[in-house]
Amino acid sequence: MRPDILNPLFAEARSLPGIGPRLAPLFDRLLGENGKPARVLDVLFHIPASVIDRSRKPTIAEAEPGAIVTLEVTVDAHRPSPPQGRTPYRVLVSDPSGDLALVFFKGVQARLEKLLPVGETRWISGSIELWEGRRQMVHPDRIVDREGLARLPAFEPVYGLTEGLYPSVMARAAQASVDRLPALPEWLDRSTPAGRGWPDFADAIAALHRPASAQALDPTTPARIRLAYDEVLASQLALLLVRQSMKKAAGRATVGDGRFSRAILAALPYSLTNAQDTAVSEIRTDLATPERMLRLLQGDVGSGKTVVALLAMATVAEAGRQAALMAPTEILARQHHDRLKPLAEAAGLRVALLTGREKGQAREKVLAALAGGDVDIVFGTHALFQEHVAFADLALAVVDEQHRFGVHQRLALSQKGEAVDVLVMTATPIPRTLVLSYFGDMDVSTLREKPAGRQPVDTRAVSLDRIDEVVSAVGRAIAGGARVYWVCPLVDESEALDVAAAAERHATLVQVFGDRVGLVHGKMPGRDKDAAMGAFARGETDILVATTVIEVGVDVPQATVMVIEHAERFGLAQLHQLRGRVGRGSGKSTCLLLFKAGLGEVARARIDTMRRTEDGFEIAEEDLRLRGEGDVLGTRQSGMPGFRLAVAEQQGALLALARDDAKLMLTRDPDLASERGQALRVLLYLFERDEAIRLLQAG
Ligand code: ADP
Ligand code: MG
Repeated sequence: MRPDILNPLFAEARSLPGIGPRLAPLFDRLLGENGKPARVLDVLFHIPASVIDRSRKPTIAEAEPGAIVTLEVTVDAHRPSPPQGRTPYRVLVSDPSGDLALVFFKGVQARLEKLLPVGETRWISGSIELWEGRRQMVHPDRIVDREGLARLPAFEPVYGLTEGLYPSVMARAAQASVDRLPALPEWLDRSTPAGRGWPDFADAIAALHRPASAQALDPTTPARIRLAYDEVLASQLALLLVRQSMKKAAGRATVGDGRFSRAILAALPYSLTNAQDTAVSEIRTDLATPERMLRLLQGDVGSGKTVVALLAMATVAEAGRQAALMAPTEILARQHHDRLKPLAEAAGLRVALLTGREKGQAREKVLAALAGGDVDIVFGTHALFQEHVAFADLALAVVDEQHRFGVHQRLALSQKGEAVDVLVMTATPIPRTLVLSYFGDMDVSTLREKPAGRQPVDTRAVSLDRIDEVVSAVGRAIAGGARVYWVCPLVDESEALDVAAAAERHATLVQVFGDRVGLVHGKMPGRDKDAAMGAFARGETDILVATTVIEVGVDVPQATVMVIEHAERFGLAQLHQLRGRVGRGSGKSTCLLLFKAGLGEVARARIDTMRRTEDGFEIAEEDLRLRGEGDVLGTRQSGMPGFRLAVAEQQGALLALARDDAKLMLTRDPDLASERGQALRVLLYLFERDEAIRLLQAG
């Protein structure tokens, strides 16, 4: 149960002064999550985007055009606009240094005369401009008398808004939300060096909504660092609690006798790399302990994660238990199944496939086999984890390409309640700092070494103007026996347009190359996708035009040319993933990045990085630098997904601190029962990481 003191913050935003029935939907639109009404908390956490500095009080003569200034002036005269004319209403003001015209395009005389009485002193704030050599200020932001001046904040927060929502309304709501903030217990350990210098949570958040300087929003102020730390601490604590409860929930030791694994290894046309060997034994060790496994298998595209997963699943089967591999798309689930099945079955394993597309009797048969223990390993999509799917004895869940699944899905998975060991595979190398913030204290196996015999992919950037030459080059490559991917980009994030672009490219290539050109995109029915992929894999087509559906995991070793149209529209991680589709066999591979002339700096930097290196980890770090973590994790928003106050640059530095703090706390007080423990529970609720508290109560 949420502590009562937090209730005022979880009340709906419409309970704040000034938010009536007309404005409430605007707040919901701007701040409500997933269509839910905005709450006071959401307003409180809506950090200003910038600060207006009204502290500068020069004379009229000193005021620099363009900058915001606050001027003390005497009102000299009103010049109302003539009845029919288009001349604006002007009020002439002055100080000893000079004079100035205040310009109003929609001035109501009575109101302006009341606001600016002739002969009186007033303070006006806004920016001055020059018009026909004379100073003027169009629609001053503020016009106040001496009393009003006392109340005029020198530094004014500016908020992100939505259409129809006025700055003054948002500002008032934000101020009211700060007033609603209750006195919260301190969850920081004030005895640590970090805990000492920071303001209280309440003071820190007030410092953002009531800025005391133009620099109040800097990520390096103690207030911002404190808030970022609090948020990171909440997330680390939650992740540790999940892990703690998983470890506590009696796992089972699963020890294989090696018979299936040996048969698989013997049948492989290659031997494992050292990195693969190490990963396999790390996983086996985890499986053999009675604690639950939570391990991330990181490896660049083509580093050979699949066979590691297969050997893990084989180990489980040797112990008479079951394993499931969940892929993000049907294509991938099917590919894993089709490619591993011969190997697995030859080794003696019983294999099944379950996606949304298995229907009717076939589906019933798979379900019965899973429940009856007649299947050792099953491949599938998230259909596998739906409620009606029952396993006889599921020991291991392998989740492929995790970054495609929401971050929260992992929580859901671990909360399944069964003592399932979890292996998460990601093909997007994730910088260490981000592994920690998103996966917490997960064990990590990394395949940094690539299988021997791989040739580097020759990567070139070509202007789209030269597309005819590219088509000729593709023709020559095909004549030499190559198979070619041709990827069309995302257009305006609209799948329909996306598909249109790919279909159009397909049509033009068909004109040149005839029916040896295939097409695959996200809007196709699953069966057609499979057919197109299959035809390409079997060599019945030479060119496969695709949208980014081929991005993740698809494996056709004979494909040696990758053409990426409008490469400037893709993120680095995506480009790297796409390029990883070639260079998989022993043939020499080429990647052509077609870009539009006049590239921006970031796009150019991305393409240069692609040409410079094929090391996914290096590319991921570069991606993080260029675009922020959103892209690294395959999400499109640029903020920190799941984080509201912490910004990316702060994460790395604060993470280690927060993690150590959370760890220490849980060692001392695993149930969060002490006074500080209770305060930390408040923190978890405040940042809505309270799923983790439920685990505490259960455990
Ligand atoms: P990813 O890590 O991207 O999932 P895959 O598991 O699909 O990579 O492996 C890519 C290709 O490399 C596959 O064709 C696979 O058969 C091959 N492969 C995997 N391990 C080795 C190895 N040790 N030596 C040679 N080839 C390997
Ligand atoms: Mg893979």
